Amino acid sequence: MNGAPRVVVVGGGLAGLSAAVACTDAGADVLVLESRPRLGGATWSFRRNGLSFDNGQHVYMRCCTAYRRFLERVGSAGDAPLQERLAIPVLRPSAGGGAPALAWLRRNDLPAPLQLGTALATYGHLGTADRLRLGRAALALRRLRLSDPALDSETFGAFLARHGQSEAAIERLWDLITLPTVNLHAGEASLALAAKVFQTGLFTESDAADLGWSRVPLATLHGDRAAAVLRAGGAAIRKRAKVTALRFADRPPGSAAGPARAIEGVVVDGETVEADAVILAVPHEVASELYGPVRGPDRDGHATTLGRSPIVDVHVVYDRKVLDHDVVAAVGSPVQFLFDTTASSGLDPADGQCVAASISGADVEQGERPAVLVVRYTRALAELFPAARHASVVDAVVSRERAATFRGIPGTAALRPRPATEVAGLFLAGAWTDTGWPATMEGAVRSGVAAAALALRSVGNDRGGSRRPGDLGRPEEVVA
Ligand SMILES: Cc1cc2nc3c(=O)[nH]c(=O)nc-3n(C[C@H](O)[C@H](O)[C@H](O)COP(=O)(O)OP(=O)(O)OC[C@H]3O[C@@H](n4cnc5c(N)ncnc54)[C@H](O)[C@@H]3O)c2cc1C
Repeated sequence: MNGAPRVVVVGGGLAGLSAAVACTDAGADVLVLESRPRLGGATWSFRRNGLSFDNGQHVYMRCCTAYRRFLERVGSAGDAPLQERLAIPVLRPSAGGGAPALAWLRRNDLPAPLQLGTALATYGHLGTADRLRLGRAALALRRLRLSDPALDSETFGAFLARHGQSEAAIERLWDLITLPTVNLHAGEASLALAAKVFQTGLFTESDAADLGWSRVPLATLHGDRAAAVLRAGGAAIRKRAKVTALRFADRPPGSAAGPARAIEGVVVDGETVEADAVILAVPHEVASELYGPVRGPDRDGHATTLGRSPIVDVHVVYDRKVLDHDVVAAVGSPVQFLFDTTASSGLDPADGQCVAASISGADVEQGERPAVLVVRYTRALAELFPAARHASVVDAVVSRERAATFRGIPGTAALRPRPATEVAGLFLAGAWTDTGWPATMEGAVRSGVAAAALALRSVGNDRGGSRRPGDLGRPEEVVA
């Protein structure tokens, strides 16, 4: 490509795609190598009996600015709208089989952090004493300094207990936000990651936690649209292209101070593909295999020990409408969050409704047989939605992601590397790298844009992405 620097991006998940788009926008000669037959990484879709299902429901918040810019850039923002204002009905089944109790997590027009004040003061799933104590923990959480390394030495659950939160308050309120964002219960989640979520989502801007999600299959929203933008910009994409090794060159003795080695290329299908810069946007285990032990900022830990946390989704197709809201949360039920996925599945609403029950921190569920999960979840849905008691289940399918995210427990901050490596021209990206965010789409995109900025600088192209409106933004805004 007319002598433009060649940037090879290994991995076509959100981190790799956003890095590739940023480098393509900056005029680099980009090649994306993805081992699977599809792009999108941990966000993908499959077809069954004529309908489309996602590997797991994906949600983002208005404060996910880098991810939103990515959606804009690839032309997908209109297909993943945000709620006008955060409003989630929270149901609790009644013991006697009657109508479930309902409370709302809904913001008002007051500035942060008062926007949820009314909702919390009237949150009927907690007793008066628990509700009165919520403010104490919220204030303490708001005062935490995210840069304090001590936050990553304690669980969020321990912090909440120290600030007067009962088990009921943790289970029926705090976990509603911790589980889908950190992918662990508060009792296991790192305080550092939970504090990042609560401070960014609830304590800064009043609309920061408004929720958005896709109304088209994730494969379309991310992989297909990004591929079209990349190809239009002249980038090449190779699928089923598993990178098996990296090629390094020793820098000549006496060369200017800097890394002792430089990247030369990557090996795919037994052949070396040369590169001026390589962005390794693969999961942490693969990065460690290809590059060697990847270390966190304080250099005492290896990213290989980041562990994993599963997510399981139970998708149910009913012969009629059972759910009146597009999203519902539940407490005192196996259901955590339930989404109406009729639009993205392609089901005609006249023929029924498709719903997805998303189970985060699913250590138990990921080892259970699909038939067992389907029975448990269709029963739980019947408890929550009277209409489901009379509806027929036309189809049900379980999707499981054993390694959906890294395990965001205390101690993980020290294991997450920054994008620059000890090899000139080699950069790391991925939701598992040091973004400050839990393993999320926002973290993945941030990491990709940050790695792209460094890669472009290393090849002498500091434009750092185009500055056209709607692009991925200036990298300095997103470098963690
Ligand atoms: C079921 C589920 C639900 C989730 N829900 C949410 C949510 O609601 N909100 C949210 O923000 N986040 C959610 N996440 C997390 C989010 O999807 C991830 O954090 C993000 O997509 C990770 O992107 P990534 O690019 O860092 O990694 P990945 O998506 O894992 O991409 C890495 C890519 O590298 C490729 N690769 C691996 N080895 C090689 C090799 N040797 N050569 C070439 N390519 C290779 C892989 O095939 C993969 O495509 C969820 C995840 C799952 C699985």
